Amino acid sequence: MQRIVDEIAEQMANVSDKGSVATYIPQLAQVDPNQFAITVALPNGEIYSAGCSQTLFSIQSISKVFTLTLALGKLGEALWARVGREPSGDPFNSIVQLEHENGRPRNPFINAGAIAVADAIMQGHKPKEILAEILRFIRFLANDDAINIDEKVAQSEQETGNRNASLAFFMASFGHFENPVDEVLGTYFHHCSIAMNTVQLAKAGRFLANNGINPDTNCVVVSSKRAKRINSLMLMCGHYDGSGEFAYRVGLPGKSGVGGGILAIAPGEASIAVWSPGLDIIGNSKLGTQALELFTSKTGWSVFSV
Ligand code: GLU
Repeated sequence: MQRIVDEIAEQMANVSDKGSVATYIPQLAQVDPNQFAITVALPNGEIYSAGCSQTLFSIQSISKVFTLTLALGKLGEALWARVGREPSGDPFNSIVQLEHENGRPRNPFINAGAIAVADAIMQGHKPKEILAEILRFIRFLANDDAINIDEKVAQSEQETGNRNASLAFFMASFGHFENPVDEVLGTYFHHCSIAMNTVQLAKAGRFLANNGINPDTNCVVVSSKRAKRINSLMLMCGHYDGSGEFAYRVGLPGKSGVGGGILAIAPGEASIAVWSPGLDIIGNSKLGTQALELFTSKTGWSVFSV
């Protein structure tokens, strides 16, 4: 496995078109696009990394996997009254679809859906309390108390968040929100601003590769049925309107973030985190996708291989 990840990192270093970094906030626009990291975390505790696997990056939309998991824990199936579970085929911040569908977002991974999930988990609590809970959960999953929110990123998200605010107020206009819109947005912007490295992220994803069990503690995070369902949602909806392309090329459930990270799950085998800040035209990590495609070709660990 170490040889495989080393080879992938070496190949990625030689790719000339590394994509373009997100520019909507300075903290992402300033990141050097020539960085690449991969970490493979096995359920037995083994960790294999290559590249800059200790460098922190903004996990952005990957945080939506963890907030969805928390929301399902709190609301169970009732969550699906508030958000759908179909691929969107539209950009991550589309408002058109929301109007057609009466303010019920298509899935929990598009922005509107994740904002609805943030509202669902707040249940009258203040953003500070919920953010502490989200952080505690991710630290527990990764077995790492150093994980934190990058406050500068959160501040910039807030300052440039007009589209997300529009989505939120639009949903609220249908009477779908239980908490004040600005507090829901504050929660959303902050959980998108959690900073992690690929080791921490791969470790945090292990429960999804391990039938819902955190391998460090043997603690049941979610039932195996729920782990299967979260993985299914990641496969169908985890890369916005590039989800079909990702499934076609990689063949694993995965969730991307505009910071250039991707968390991919090979059920029963491994949780894999990749990071490279250059994005493709849809907003998914260019080298990250390429690296995962190589990884599943080399290991045969796609959900469609036997
Ligand atoms: N915070 C970002 C936004 O809402 C997340 C986008 C992403 O990672 O795709 O615009």
